[in-house]
Amino acid sequence: MRTQFSLTQLADPDIAASDQILRKCVHCGFCTATCPTYLMLGDERDSPRGRIILIQDMLQSDLPPDPSTVKHLDRCLSCLSCMTTCPSGVNYMHLIDHARAHIAEHHKRPLFDRLTRQALGMLLVRPRLFGLAMAIANRFRFLARILPEKLRAVFDLVPARVYGPSALEQAVLQPATGQARLNVALLLGCVQRPLAPEISQAAARVLRRFGANVVIPQGLECCGAIAHHMGDHHASNQRIDANIAAIERAGPIDRVIATASGCGTMLKAYGFIRRTDHAMAQRAMQVADLARDVSEVLSELGYRGNSGIPRLKVAYHAACSLEHGQNQKAGPRALLRAAGFDVVEIPNGHLCCGSAGTYNLLQPELAGQLKANKQAAIRTLDIDVVAAGNIGCMTQISGGLNKPVVHTVELLDWASGGPMPPALVNQITASKARTS
Ligand code: SF4
Ligand code: SF4
Repeated sequence: MRTQFSLTQLADPDIAASDQILRKCVHCGFCTATCPTYLMLGDERDSPRGRIILIQDMLQSDLPPDPSTVKHLDRCLSCLSCMTTCPSGVNYMHLIDHARAHIAEHHKRPLFDRLTRQALGMLLVRPRLFGLAMAIANRFRFLARILPEKLRAVFDLVPARVYGPSALEQAVLQPATGQARLNVALLLGCVQRPLAPEISQAAARVLRRFGANVVIPQGLECCGAIAHHMGDHHASNQRIDANIAAIERAGPIDRVIATASGCGTMLKAYGFIRRTDHAMAQRAMQVADLARDVSEVLSELGYRGNSGIPRLKVAYHAACSLEHGQNQKAGPRALLRAAGFDVVEIPNGHLCCGSAGTYNLLQPELAGQLKANKQAAIRTLDIDVVAAGNIGCMTQISGGLNKPVVHTVELLDWASGGPMPPALVNQITASKARTS
């Protein structure tokens, strides 16, 4: 499509990059068929094509964004379903990221929104503080019904249990149990640490079993995605630079692994995000080149199951950030089959569950509808367990679902000699009792 940025505007490298992306869009509208918000709301401004026009107008106008534009862009999940549908290769991810930063810089949000975003930006990236906040929220859960709707949504996501720092956090090197073939740095993440430390533990075990020396780099913390997706690029750049330094300090590393696919997508974008900083560009590109989802590395290491566990029926939930953000579709499913499970597809599985980083906290109504749709689709299936590659999806889907939800890597670990995933223990024990 045609753009009309001035030469002065195009001197800004972010505008120049967005200009190139915008020019690729031919307005065909194929992307509208797979956009969850368009399918729910039916408004062109809540479709990728409509948002692309809103972003173009906003960036070209040099005026503060109007509230309507902010509303429709805020409703975007950044699920990137539109990117894997688009035949023209429009990189919507970089475009919406630029738009969010532009809004953060040029638009003053209402006080409640500002405070909510600040609180999320501060809490979610500090595992100990977040764990403490969750423990307190759990204790005062009964107060939820008297709170405004947006705060009630927070309580819906509060887990029954939170965990302190695990032994893995203190470890620096976990050597391969057999012959070492790769040195991998494992990102423990932020939200995942107090909510589900068993995921990283399972990842470390199974990676070591198949020939990886697992390094936990000291100082490798939140990937920066939470700040980045709220438009706070100053904060996310600081996190990115600190993480790059932590990985460099960790010694020779062949792969940088994320078990939360949202984090993996962010790690892979480090090179693009830091491209205009001469001191960081090259280093960021190197880390991005090493970044992998845990499923990619297990495929590379020749994963296979061997422990004779029950042949469970697994509904595989394709996290958007893995399926659309990293284009990892067949890999996780093939691993589950190699582990000995029957993989069952969820109807309309390409549509987001509504988690989407902080979306379920900032847009609780739409996120709640998407969650209900996802759970209804899962309930139509005859399955034993749901597997997903992202802690956000797991938290979103599991609330109120009568099936256990585990991380894919927990099943892969179990099927190759590790312990049964904690979320499955009760289910398997109950079914054994029924059949004995
Ligand atoms: S599918 Fe791609 S080219 Fe077509 S309208 Fe959507 S973003 Fe533009
Ligand atoms: S990222 Fe998802 S919600 Fe946003 S426009 Fe694309 S398909 Fe729609």
